Amino acid sequence: MYNKTIAELAKSLRSGEFSSVELTLAFLDRIKQHGSLNAYVTITEDLALQAAKTADIRLAAGNAELLTGIPIAQKDIFCTEGIKTSCGSRMLDNFIAPYNATVVDKFNSAGAVMLGKLNMDEFAMGSSNETSYYGAVKNPWNINAVPGGSSGGSAAAVAARLAVCATGTDTGGSIRQPAALCGITGLKPTYGRVSRYGMIAYASSLDQGGPMTRSAEDAALMLQTMAGFDDKDSTSVDVSVPDYRAGLNNSLEGLKIGLPKEFFGEGLSSDVAATLEAAINEYRKLGATVTEVSMPSLKLAIPAYYVIAPAECSANLSRFDGVRFGYRCENPVDLTDLYTRSRGEGFGKEVKRRILMGTYALSAGYYDAYYIKAQKVRRLISEDFKRALAEVDVMMGPVTPSTAFGIGEKIDNPIEMYLSDIYTIAINLAGVPAMSVPAGFAKGLPVGLQIIGHYFAEDKLLNIAHQYQQVTDWHTQIPKGFE
Ligand code: GLN
Repeated sequence: MYNKTIAELAKSLRSGEFSSVELTLAFLDRIKQHGSLNAYVTITEDLALQAAKTADIRLAAGNAELLTGIPIAQKDIFCTEGIKTSCGSRMLDNFIAPYNATVVDKFNSAGAVMLGKLNMDEFAMGSSNETSYYGAVKNPWNINAVPGGSSGGSAAAVAARLAVCATGTDTGGSIRQPAALCGITGLKPTYGRVSRYGMIAYASSLDQGGPMTRSAEDAALMLQTMAGFDDKDSTSVDVSVPDYRAGLNNSLEGLKIGLPKEFFGEGLSSDVAATLEAAINEYRKLGATVTEVSMPSLKLAIPAYYVIAPAECSANLSRFDGVRFGYRCENPVDLTDLYTRSRGEGFGKEVKRRILMGTYALSAGYYDAYYIKAQKVRRLISEDFKRALAEVDVMMGPVTPSTAFGIGEKIDNPIEMYLSDIYTIAINLAGVPAMSVPAGFAKGLPVGLQIIGHYFAEDKLLNIAHQYQQVTDWHTQIPKGFE
């Protein structure tokens, strides 16, 4: 039963094949059995069983929604009332959130069953899930490889069938990159599409929550619940939410695909390139036409991001000071000692590096040279996207330059680690939506195809991914040992 998608489970739960309690127990067993993946920070067993019982009552009464009774898991960046919300950090290891994120509230009212909270890079800073205070997450396709980050726990859990689906967040690639490295489907919505209320902030102008699932259809069902205006988030956009499932079967005849030439140059491994070529050929068979487009400012995306994201993070993380909540050092001698030791002991190395970079970029004298310059580059990148997307319906390219790398391989080389997001980061700077879709394997490890669309064209992306999943079976593959 743990191999079924949301859509299939919704049917089984209604036909009485099994109950939500039975389904939830099966998942809880699997989570324990595969604890060595380190995908979960917290397992909320009792609450899950309670929620499953309530779901079964709703199902029997005939007032269930599609997600009612479906076991899901939340990235530990989303605040969950009464439950530890660590954000992968020692700083919040003792933090019990006093309220729910809007996204969590929405899943709860849909009747979804939360199994627990998922491991992640500390404060969502990372591309390998190695910066977590709770230790690295392992990739179910090869336990010596990283699952990607920062939503590595989410990707590993969905790939290993330790949850039917999971939430993720994406500031520079953290939904799409781990989805690609673990062979699942991940969607980063348009900035403003999904509420950020109660989602612990990393870089507020870039952060966006989204679904991580096995299929595009499941992503449509999850996004349906997550999306929509929220007056508690001032950057939430008041645009109506379409019926995502209704558009999944539209024909792709005449679809115009643009391939940004900058995505296929030096730096892309040849086996990933060959896999993507085959995927794009499938789209030709489905009736699409393919042209080349150009994004001249793309090469500036990583430098601009690594000024803007740290600048915003240095401001956002200043609230963790050892006074109001979170970690506090032992026996501080005075206030300065309290601040410095609480932050020094509470934050890990990567988070400190980002705070230092951001504080530097924002300081008087450097602000114009770094921060203002990066904002100008951000505008150029957005213009590139608008220009390219005016010529085509969507763009396609790689998600990552290579398949999953080894645990420990890049952790001591931050620049190399930052480069693993080269194809995802520009999308956040522009704010457009993008998806990662399983497109094959290279030497036994999954490869993701990235589909990038116009603002609020999530329905189109889901349709394009779903049609591909009707003619391929990459998204149904199960890692060995997790069947
Ligand atoms: N890897 C990027 C970073 O470390 C993106 C992370 C994310 O999207 N949260 O900032």
